[in-house]
Amino acid sequence: SRPRSEAIFQRALELVPGGVNSPVRAWKSVGGTPVHIRSGSGARCTDVDGHVYIDLVMSYGPLLFGHGHEPVVEAVREALARGTAFGSPTEGEVEMAERITAWVPGVERVRLVNSGTEATMSALRVARAATGRDGFVKLEGCYHGHGDSFLVKAGSGALTLGAPDSPGVPASLAERTLVGSYNDTESVARLFKEHSGDIAAIFVEPVAGNMGTVPPRPGFLESLRELCDQHGALLVFDEVMSGFRVARGGYAEICGITPDLVTMGKVIGGGLPIAAYGGLAKWMNLVAPAGKVYQAGTLSGNPIAVAAGNAMLACLEDPTVYERLERSGARLEAGFLAAAKQAGIPMTFGRVGSMLNPFFSGAPVHTFADVLATDRELWTQFFRGMLERGVLLPPSPFEAFFLSTAHDDGVVDEIIEAATGTLNSLTRA
Ligand code: PLP
Repeated sequence: SRPRSEAIFQRALELVPGGVNSPVRAWKSVGGTPVHIRSGSGARCTDVDGHVYIDLVMSYGPLLFGHGHEPVVEAVREALARGTAFGSPTEGEVEMAERITAWVPGVERVRLVNSGTEATMSALRVARAATGRDGFVKLEGCYHGHGDSFLVKAGSGALTLGAPDSPGVPASLAERTLVGSYNDTESVARLFKEHSGDIAAIFVEPVAGNMGTVPPRPGFLESLRELCDQHGALLVFDEVMSGFRVARGGYAEICGITPDLVTMGKVIGGGLPIAAYGGLAKWMNLVAPAGKVYQAGTLSGNPIAVAAGNAMLACLEDPTVYERLERSGARLEAGFLAAAKQAGIPMTFGRVGSMLNPFFSGAPVHTFADVLATDRELWTQFFRGMLERGVLLPPSPFEAFFLSTAHDDGVVDEIIEAATGTLNSLTRA
């Protein structure tokens, strides 16, 4: 039982819309009262009732080294002593830009912002300004934050002009969002055929992570690059989730494709609110005060967040980081698949390194339609069983699980044991 979580949530429901500051935290898709967390250390977190969980939420991605990673904590402590914010430029911001531009393909200039949402909104503004076109392509199943233009998907599988997903988004704006399907080149090519002169950019998560983890099929990202080149549009990789997680230079480093613009967030701030957008100098020099595209922020490049970010990025200089994350990811995948097979439950796995999750399906998952065809009721039961066994999963079948370097072999084996017990109990039920 979780009496303290329940009491706090009841108070919150009277004060905060839905009781939470970001919708998925309300556990609407799994039911029950969200656990309220008091603290975290390494791969584990503790709730306000004193239960300890192995954490696979990991703040939805930022904590690549686990909770309370000492270099990050120490950097924050040191920065705090010097002041929380100045509104004047600081050296730390330049240091951060030096690392990002050295590592991320295509990023010659970079601007720091406070959230992934701001990064994608700003990148879209640059793409629109660069091309003089208002329309752009996004792909169903990809999430790019809550900016008006991005809260759009295709209606009932048909490829149509976008209609808003949320009240409050003007239809006149949403209709400039053209929706294709992830991993379906033909759907995007068709949009270019019909709207060629009005497409400023394609936005894509190179590894889709907001419909569960869905890697790109061979050739898919290459085909987006070609379409952009043919039609004078910008290719924007939204690496808010995959950036610095799947490789130091994001998925662009792995696939060898150079995008025009890149958005980054999550890992880049080590758990503090910081994000960035960057790209080729010819585009980024359009941004004020170098150019006329206005974008600003009182707390942009905040010294505390930048100190955390620099400490985080410094840790990525260790070449073994991604090997360790890959090893843990592969171990978890193999363990889950073996347990599912033994329990007679169809399961496929979406995974790129430490960004991963099971799908309850006997068929491969490449598109949003494939994700919708998986067994989400079984997923919900799996979530509850794992929670009872002390493993905290993200509370939605559309969220990726995140491993950190603190999830070593021993921790991964504990997770697999919980999964084995849960899957066996589901078979018996
Ligand atoms: N882009 C991607 C790929 C994301 O995964 C997210 C957040 O989950 C965002 C953008 C939005 O970032 P934020 O939540 O920091 O606004």
